[in-house]
Amino acid sequence: MKKILSVTQFLLNGLRKHENIRCLHTGYISHQKQFVLTKDRYPHIKRGNYTELNDNHVKFFKDLLGSDRVLTDPNDVQPYNTDWIKMVCGTLVCEAGCVLETLDQELEKHNLMMPLDLGAKGSCQIGGNISTNAGGLRFLRYGSLQGNVLGVEVVLANGEVLDCLNVLKKDNTGFHLRHLFIGSEGTLGIVTKAALQCPPRPKSIILAFLGVEDFESVLSTLKLAKEQLSETLSSCELIDAPSLDAVNKYLGIKSPIDEFPFYVLIETSGSDVNHDEEKLNVFLDKAMTRGIVIDGIVTNEPSKMQNIWQLRERIAEALLHTGAVYKYDVSLPVQHFYEIVPLLQNELKDTSATVVTGYGHIGDGNLHVNIAAEEYDQDLVNNVIEPFVFKWVSEKKGSISAEHGIGLKKTEFLHYSKTPEAISLMKKLKNLFDPSGILNPYKVLPLH
Ligand SMILES: Cc1cc2nc3c(=O)[nH]c(=O)nc-3n(C[C@H](O)[C@H](O)[C@H](O)COP(=O)(O)OP(=O)(O)OC[C@H]3O[C@@H](n4cnc5c(N)ncnc54)[C@H](O)[C@@H]3O)c2cc1C
Repeated sequence: MKKILSVTQFLLNGLRKHENIRCLHTGYISHQKQFVLTKDRYPHIKRGNYTELNDNHVKFFKDLLGSDRVLTDPNDVQPYNTDWIKMVCGTLVCEAGCVLETLDQELEKHNLMMPLDLGAKGSCQIGGNISTNAGGLRFLRYGSLQGNVLGVEVVLANGEVLDCLNVLKKDNTGFHLRHLFIGSEGTLGIVTKAALQCPPRPKSIILAFLGVEDFESVLSTLKLAKEQLSETLSSCELIDAPSLDAVNKYLGIKSPIDEFPFYVLIETSGSDVNHDEEKLNVFLDKAMTRGIVIDGIVTNEPSKMQNIWQLRERIAEALLHTGAVYKYDVSLPVQHFYEIVPLLQNELKDTSATVVTGYGHIGDGNLHVNIAAEEYDQDLVNNVIEPFVFKWVSEKKGSISAEHGIGLKKTEFLHYSKTPEAISLMKKLKNLFDPSGILNPYKVLPLH
């Protein structure tokens, strides 16, 4: 039995060691005004004895027809180089062991991007992302992996390979089996390949880092950003003062603006920098005139944007320098989003906890609550923090795990976010897929 239990890890290690990590296929989408030339799409067809188009030919036709009757701009000629079924789809099919950042770099060559971005991108693998249904920094714009994963190939517990590697955006032929493997944390099967739809890479990205006096103003900023920036809004993140202090203190990364109780990071992505700037300026003007944003900086310089993103992406790393961190990842109705942080600060004031911080994807109602302490104290976790956090979140109709999953740690708390009937059905599904319990045993489902 022991040997069988290690099957999952064995296969995952195999994926990690897979040296032939590669994208199997990248496609293109027509509305991006990109296309693959026939010579590139069918490299196996040997070119006949034809000449290649050159400037003299273009000049000849311009002289013959008039220059306004000859199209040379790639955007204008694209429709004539793409067939109507658009052998092009903006999809990526890859092996599960591909690292997220590597995939994004590969897609950049085709002016596409991964619909997912998160701090762990340099090490996490797409199979892990899919299995945890990772959310990340641009969920607000591009949506969940459940929406973006078009198909998966999965190895089932009995060794069968289930080919659901669909690349179609629409396919209503019965049960959507792939969804069972997205977010089930490897308990129903091992993802070995995936097909994802990949959006066009934006041509213009602008980042605003804003200082805000209170949480009411944070909510007003979010509301105004959604109204004014609409389709260009690609990220809206919250950082509270203790989180920013930690990044500053432990990693030496400085805030570009004065101190505030809250900071809101707003990113826009689009195809026209002038249009996007105009929208952002209107938003900022309104936000400052109404007094909901007090100070801020705006940049579209890549290095400056990277520095600002570090203030958000490296909070978890910074807090680890305190000694121990208790981390919670919850979804909450936006009006209750930050309430739990001051409540916990009060609850924990006479304990070994030193700092309680709240930050996260406010645009998606996803708060990361981090509690730092000099030393890890299991009693504090079991008797104070977890009963308080999970009960409170459940009372507010939130989720005890917004994006990090259940894993081993939260199985006994699953009932706070799932009804007994739902848990019972999950157990039946697990039993159907994995009757011997060899796939990630002990994870997700409570033992009793
Ligand atoms: C700095 C940092 C920032 C992060 N930010 C975010 C964030 O913003 N949003 C977010 O959602 N998450 C975030 N995360 C968590 C992140 O989602 C996960 O670390 C990542 O998605 C998991 O991928 P992995 O390759 O690391 O998987 P692992 O950690 O190796 O595995 C995760 C789980 O999936 C299972 N698994 C892995 N591969 C497969 C497979 N091929 N088939 C079946 N099961 C598999 C494993 O058994 C395990 O249960 C962050 C993590 C870090 C370290």
